[in-house]
Amino acid sequence: MAADQKQIDQSFSQKSSLGASQHPTSEPIIVGLTGGIGSGKSTVAAAFRQLGIVSVDADQAARAVVEPGMPALTAIAEHFGEAVMLPDGGLNRAALREIIFSNPAEKQWLESLLHPLIREWIVAQLQAAKSPYVILESPLLFETNQHLLTQATLLVDVPVPLQITRAAARDGQSTAQIESIIAAQMPREEKRSRATYILDNSLPLATLDARVLALHNEFMRRVNRPQESIR
Ligand code: ADP
Repeated sequence: MAADQKQIDQSFSQKSSLGASQHPTSEPIIVGLTGGIGSGKSTVAAAFRQLGIVSVDADQAARAVVEPGMPALTAIAEHFGEAVMLPDGGLNRAALREIIFSNPAEKQWLESLLHPLIREWIVAQLQAAKSPYVILESPLLFETNQHLLTQATLLVDVPVPLQITRAAARDGQSTAQIESIIAAQMPREEKRSRATYILDNSLPLATLDARVLALHNEFMRRVNRPQESIR
């Protein structure tokens, strides 16, 4: 708790002038929420929603842009063929994942198609959001440069072994599967060094709401006094 607070104190004042210059006060401040698989992002986003804060989900964006009828799905079907399509016209994600896993060029083709569309979808949702500030929840916030859409970032952080235990208990995936997902994400230490705030989620769930409320109060102070350094 003390360490969280220190992080909050140090980083809040660093970012406040940046936020003020990029954002007129009429536009909500955007806080990027990130963390590796099983770290607790969804749980933290739900706690912010309980406080009336809108959370835009980058995973939902990634699904929305390839729904049947969307131009990206047509482009993917033309590029990869029937093997990546389900009989009902939807995308066969498992088949597509398998192709791009072993083929970096195809992965890059897919990312250059989808990332701009995902970004557009996210920006539209962020602009439509009606809350004093808005959360952008994204497991790959830094990896995909989505942090550039935000004025501050919050990392939900747990040690890797706990991440594996929680993700395995939630999804029923094997340790090896979760480890391979973690290996494809930015290392924990790098995320820690880049984040504006760090929420230690190795602590019991019962303490989480209070710690989210403390962050919420910091963000609200920032919203109400965008031109000032908080500390
Ligand atoms: P993410 O969205 O980052 O993948 P989740 O929010 O789904 O992670 O959390 C992973 C699992 O860990 C969920 O089953 C969730 O209920 C549980 N969890 C989250 N925070 C805590 C905590 N502080 N203590 C115990 N379990 C937690």
